[in-house]
Amino acid sequence: MTTTRVAQIEVRDPGRFDEVVGEVAVASPDEIDRIVREADAAAAAWARAGVDARAEALLSAARDFDAVDDALAELLTRENGSVLAVSQREVSLVPHLLRMAVDLGLGALAEPAVEDATVSLRRRPYGVVACIVPWNAPVVLALQKVGPALIAGNTVIVKPSPNAPLAVTRILERIAAHLPAGVLSVVNGGGEVGSALVVHPAVRKVSFTGGEAVARQIMVLAADSFTRVHFELGGNDPAIVLDDADVPAAAEAIVSHAFRRSGQVCYAIKRVYVPRRRLDDFADAAFAAMDRFVVGHGLDPDATMGPVNNAAQFERVRRLHDGLRERGVRVETGGVRLDPAGWDRGWYVQPSLVRGADPRDEVVTTEQFGPILPIVAYDQEADAVAHANGTEYGLCSSVWSSDLDRARGIAEQLEAGITFINEHALSPAGRRALPFGGVKRSGIGWEGASAGIDEYLQFHGIQVAEAAR
Ligand code: NAD
Repeated sequence: MTTTRVAQIEVRDPGRFDEVVGEVAVASPDEIDRIVREADAAAAAWARAGVDARAEALLSAARDFDAVDDALAELLTRENGSVLAVSQREVSLVPHLLRMAVDLGLGALAEPAVEDATVSLRRRPYGVVACIVPWNAPVVLALQKVGPALIAGNTVIVKPSPNAPLAVTRILERIAAHLPAGVLSVVNGGGEVGSALVVHPAVRKVSFTGGEAVARQIMVLAADSFTRVHFELGGNDPAIVLDDADVPAAAEAIVSHAFRRSGQVCYAIKRVYVPRRRLDDFADAAFAAMDRFVVGHGLDPDATMGPVNNAAQFERVRRLHDGLRERGVRVETGGVRLDPAGWDRGWYVQPSLVRGADPRDEVVTTEQFGPILPIVAYDQEADAVAHANGTEYGLCSSVWSSDLDRARGIAEQLEAGITFINEHALSPAGRRALPFGGVKRSGIGWEGASAGIDEYLQFHGIQVAEAAR
């Protein structure tokens, strides 16, 4: 008898390397093929079932997550490093995101797009959609794709990141139990599993959230069969503080938006532009806010900032620090170190800021995706706008001012998917109404709002010859 060894991914706690949090099996090429074929076979019936039946199934899944499940949040913290409160919030969004997708989908699909005597226009799903997601907020980022793709009538296969596959796999399997077989599946593994999905001839669309380099590889792979792509990529979000801003309040809020999840958020604030004469006031207030972070293991109730997720991320931040030090740039480091003796057992980094950073420095021009924030002085607002736009990134941005009209005037000039005024995070109203996505190299396509449903629909028009009626 021959036995086939199934490769496993061992997931270790980024805050306690010696602890194995769990394992997932890497899908083999045969298994990927089988799962895609099952999704393809389920697609016609799921599409024909109609939006009301799909809504009912998704609402049943949403109800399954109404009760707080701290075990899932703890699992998420132990695999991706975020502090428990952040993971609890992430898990609590599952039923909310499913319900929002249902609501938006019912609206988008309620009526035929056009229906008259000679022409009718329908919106149809693509068929099988592959969703490839990263590790930083794996549950939310997967759910933002899965709900809209399913309510639109597609069948879905999700490939989580090997750096945080456990909680999202469990959640998706629980959702799948409310749906017909083959409608929602998960495959685990690294880039090779993602690539196998992209090139599978039955996969009609790939929705990817992650970095630019992988997106480029996916685009090349998808070109062969013209498989549609939807990309949510990195950002280097600027915050522009105007000279009339309430500096202490702005500094406090900007720091909290820059350092959430240890800076590992695609639309975290990654650079701040401050009028030169207010630079020190701003930097002092920002330092004071940053210094209050307590860095430790995500399950430690005193921790307000966890470790970064993985070695590559840790090295990237260290390289930025080394480069700044070599150029003689002062980096101000703050925060309380919880359990410093345990720091070499995890990817711990203290938060830091660079006061008066050079606008051309790498820490300003690239996405750090870690807890380091450059503050750049500007002389003219036009310079701040030019710097903010002078990049290939275009995810989000923010303007901080006590004069909303003035702030709007600057906001209108910024190149971004969303520009916030006096905040830098989506509110419930924003999440419902504003499509999230990047311009330039920060993405292709939109997630959330009704545009996020359209992303999973294509048109089918029927026209009848006048004479044949
Ligand atoms: P990544 O690009 O390395 O990986 C993302 C996913 O792609 C993982 O599941 C990975 O296994 C898979 N993958 C890797 N190689 C592949 C290939 N050749 N074919 C198919 N799939 C492949 O990204 P990451 O390090 O996991 O996440 C960090 C990046 O994600 C940052 O740049 C961040 O800004 C971005 N991000 C963007 C958003 C957004 O909504 N715009 C949200 C979160 C993160």
